[in-house]
Amino acid sequence: MENKLYYDNPYIKSFQTKVIQQTIDPSGKPYVVLEKTAFYPTGGGQPHDTGTIHDVKVVNVEETDGEIRHYLEKDVKLPDEIIGEVDWNRRFDHMQQHAGQHILSAAFENLFGYKTVSFHLGTESLTIDLDIEQLTEHDALAAEKLANTIILENRPIETKWVTNEELSQYTLRKELSVTDDIRLVIIPDFDYNGCGGTHPKETGQVRAIKILDWERQKKKTRVQFICGNRVIEQFHQKQQILLELTRLLNAPEKEMGSAVQRLIESGKEQSKTIEMLKDSLLQYEADQLINEFLQRGEMVIGKLYQNRTIQELQKLARLIAAANNTITFICVAENENRIQIVGAKGSQSLCNMQQLISGILPLINGKGGGNESFAQGGGERLLPGKDVLKQLMEQTGNVV
Ligand SMILES: [Zn+2]
Repeated sequence: MENKLYYDNPYIKSFQTKVIQQTIDPSGKPYVVLEKTAFYPTGGGQPHDTGTIHDVKVVNVEETDGEIRHYLEKDVKLPDEIIGEVDWNRRFDHMQQHAGQHILSAAFENLFGYKTVSFHLGTESLTIDLDIEQLTEHDALAAEKLANTIILENRPIETKWVTNEELSQYTLRKELSVTDDIRLVIIPDFDYNGCGGTHPKETGQVRAIKILDWERQKKKTRVQFICGNRVIEQFHQKQQILLELTRLLNAPEKEMGSAVQRLIESGKEQSKTIEMLKDSLLQYEADQLINEFLQRGEMVIGKLYQNRTIQELQKLARLIAAANNTITFICVAENENRIQIVGAKGSQSLCNMQQLISGILPLINGKGGGNESFAQGGGERLLPGKDVLKQLMEQTGNVV
């Protein structure tokens, strides 16, 4: 352990040491092993440190076969003596999140007996899984409150190396996975826990803990929370979003929920009104068409359209067929690279719609369906819509 400077003092940001080995791992990545190091390797739920060694970026740190490998961004020959610099913002963030997790887990356990079964520390999210199926808001807030009290009291966070025998003096929160080199992290009269991570020396440095959300995860509850500087950063982000929303919705923060509710309701109302207006317009269009064709003495209405939905054309066709029982209506729409056809007839008209439309579909690789009085089809735009309509109109006489 003597080569692990982060255990002597987790606040070491810069150190000087000798290079013991510089080589390339089996996957071709260059790494260096140092006589001693302040770089924390991934472990115990805490991600590795980053930083530089002799100004070369350290991209990963792993403990493999008892040696700590510092993976470098590029393969540069290092001198015998180097200076290592730990990215302190990243490390201190990990220390705050990690210690915050100890405190929150202990708060849940001390108050309610809820055990933490796993922990995840990522750049975006920080979660613990509790061994319960449901968490109430009351319990979550109570644990958060106790955790923040422990932070405010600025209790020491001590670390102690103990033997397996000495262990019996302590009641640990979690069973240990190691039997030698046992490292205890202790917040006196609150939490006793085996842990190999890095922590600040007092709880006050965790600054604050805020639970964000929780959800059931199989038979457990996953609690999402943040600690330390992340609380300030996220508060800032959320505040920006809220300010933008108050401006957009022209409502104060506390009335945001009802303002959005009103917006949704009015959107629904408007959609309904638009539907009704569209129906009136279609009825008007249908009446106009019938009048126009009847005045010319034509009983078959043929129309070509661009970019109209099949649903709209179906509605129009039904309105026309319902308004006049001797009329036949056939329309073709060019919708981007597709051709769509709808046909409808009044009850006295003799033309068979299904037969008429299915006859033309092979020309456009199309498919369709329907019956004698109402049918539709669609296919590729292999020939101009006006040609399709022309052929359909010519056929109307033959499919009675
Ligand atoms: Zn820890």
